[in-house]
Amino acid sequence: MKVLVAVKRVVDFNVNIRIKSDLSGVETANVKMSINPFDEVAVEQAVRLKEQDVATEVVAVSVGPEKAQETLRTALAMGADRAILVQTDVTTEPLGVAKALKALIAREEPALILLGKQAIDDDCNQTGQMLAGLLGWPQATSASSLTLDGTRMTAAREVDAGIQRIEVGLPAVVTVDLRLNDPRHASLPNIMKSKKKPLDILTPEALGIDVSPRTVTMEVRSPTERTAGKKAASLDELAHEIQVIMEGQ
Ligand code: AMP
Repeated sequence: MKVLVAVKRVVDFNVNIRIKSDLSGVETANVKMSINPFDEVAVEQAVRLKEQDVATEVVAVSVGPEKAQETLRTALAMGADRAILVQTDVTTEPLGVAKALKALIAREEPALILLGKQAIDDDCNQTGQMLAGLLGWPQATSASSLTLDGTRMTAAREVDAGIQRIEVGLPAVVTVDLRLNDPRHASLPNIMKSKKKPLDILTPEALGIDVSPRTVTMEVRSPTERTAGKKAASLDELAHEIQVIMEGQ
């Protein structure tokens, strides 16, 4: 069974985000970029399936700029067998990425595609769902556990009411939650080996798809700074402060 894993290059989650001075977006020049944390979990799950002899091949795929090759090398160092970059300099949006993934799926014919439940830069949580819609495949979103049994798969999903268990037939689209596993750190020998693993580069045109954005970002602003809190010396003072606030509303 072949498994495809979608990985996105995003600003590292430890970076203090800065907005560009012209308010056109987030500053990415000279900023540390990394694999989207949810996608690291997806890669780990695919590699575990290979180690358990459930998956025969793990292919990491990304849609993005030339530098997204670094993100794919991370997936290769974690244990993916090969990688494909659909290279584009446009800002990717879920629909464009879903179309690119659908085109790759037609070529690769995987039985399972794993994605993160969301990208931490756009917080869309849409790509997996759109892909399942375009393919007409079943989907298990925000999976926090996965069990495969032949052509069926059971996924646990954390929902408001508790844990929901669903069963879907393969092929299927799965988006993963952070609780699914604890991703491994690539060892130095594996990082060295990853440099020799195959990484193919395609273009959206070669796949016959259009990934141009459908939305226009008008401006991006930082959240307004919160003013410092005040400590009340007594309950009476607290009650008085609350009353002043309520009267001011
Ligand atoms: P989103 O719908 O943007 O929140 O992204 C959900 C998931 O879709 C991510 O965790 C990735 O697995 C996948 N994804 C989104 N954008 C890309 C991209 N440009 N390249 C590869 N995978 C992506």
